[in-house]
Amino acid sequence: MIIQQVAFVLVLVTAVYFIYKRISLIRKTIQLGKEPILTGKAGLRVKNMLLVAFGQKKMFKKLIPAILHFFIYVGFLVINLEVLEFVADGVLGTHRIFAPWLGSFYPVLMNVFEFLAVAVLLACVFFLVRRNILKVPRFWSAEMTRWPRLDANLILITEIVLMTAILTMNAADQVLQTRDSHYVSTGSLFFSSYLVPLLQNSSTPSLILIERFAWWFHIIGILGFAVYVTYSKHLHIFLAFPNTYFANLEPKGQIKNMPVVTREVKSMLGLETSTTTSEPGRFGAKDVNDLAWTNLMAAYACTECGRCTSECPANQTGKKLSPRKIMMDTRDRLEVVGKSLLAGGPGLNDGKTLLNDYISKEEINACTSCNACVEACPVMINPLEIIIELRRYVAMEESGSPAQWNSMFQNMETSFAPWKFSAADRFNWSKD
Ligand code: SF4
Ligand code: SF4
Repeated sequence: MIIQQVAFVLVLVTAVYFIYKRISLIRKTIQLGKEPILTGKAGLRVKNMLLVAFGQKKMFKKLIPAILHFFIYVGFLVINLEVLEFVADGVLGTHRIFAPWLGSFYPVLMNVFEFLAVAVLLACVFFLVRRNILKVPRFWSAEMTRWPRLDANLILITEIVLMTAILTMNAADQVLQTRDSHYVSTGSLFFSSYLVPLLQNSSTPSLILIERFAWWFHIIGILGFAVYVTYSKHLHIFLAFPNTYFANLEPKGQIKNMPVVTREVKSMLGLETSTTTSEPGRFGAKDVNDLAWTNLMAAYACTECGRCTSECPANQTGKKLSPRKIMMDTRDRLEVVGKSLLAGGPGLNDGKTLLNDYISKEEINACTSCNACVEACPVMINPLEIIIELRRYVAMEESGSPAQWNSMFQNMETSFAPWKFSAADRFNWSKD
């Protein structure tokens, strides 16, 4: 038993080490971002977090996937309570340590876990079929290349295997309880009892082997899953919470002014005395460090569900723009910079930038700033904020906007309207 305990502690410590290392790197890359302008009350932010992240409110726009996703989500939260028992048993060398403490409540709890395990298993099968056989278009669009597709499938398959391991372990355990008083009684477990007839005729050593294998497989799978999640789009399981908390509370369509420009204009109009003589820095964003850290965190929180892209009018009309790709590119850039920093490399100064090397001007220019993507996102991500910042850089630092836009900007400066008319003529249209 002591060997098993030592092996378990080693596995646990290794997993915790890798998770810690990875989270530290992600935190470091998110901290490359600028301080965001946050408005709105903390109460409203907490409400958003409870309704949208915890309550999955925005998922329910599509009912069936929402219910199935809800099972996976609740299953993840609740079944992981069982992991506490796994860890306690693994460290202390016990078997079902909580059973004597919880008494008659233990079988109830185990049956709830099994119900959720079956629900998660069925939901994952449904999602696999929907992705790979029904081929829902948003899972097969251009940016869903090999890794994003594989990532989604890997997680679904892993969950199916892990849930099967729990049920197999419980079934073997139930048979062992009838043969050896050593095994604590779990009472009758509804779902795994369907597997009991398959194991009934196995020898006791084989059953012990099956039970132990399923136990180890499940816990190593869970710990491996926890490490893997930090490399995957499934980081949204955790980051959806802070992301909804820090989401933009301004009315959609209200584009944030740039404080440095506002100050400058106010000072030119004599409305404010400029108190700062420092350089304003870069206008807009060229690379990830020019964006707010909330935008960078959102890139890690993106589930790659593609709901934003499927609602995007630019994408629907065949333009190159996909708001999902904007988020994925931002995360990819962060990953490259983060790994470079970790290896003592040039980090942001590697000769590449988010604009041009990851996201093209053609993409950002195609955006109509309609906010459909923002409305569609189930975790309140705002790809438009990144697009606007990149466009601000192109317009203000490079004067690189399309020629038609530049003449419009000029008209705004001189005529206070997009057209080339004098401001005094603006009501001429109403004369007749
Ligand atoms: S705001 Fe831009 S990216 Fe978002 S849906 Fe509208 S056009 Fe597409
Ligand atoms: S930004 Fe939101 S809607 Fe778009 S893919 Fe990511 S999670 Fe889905």
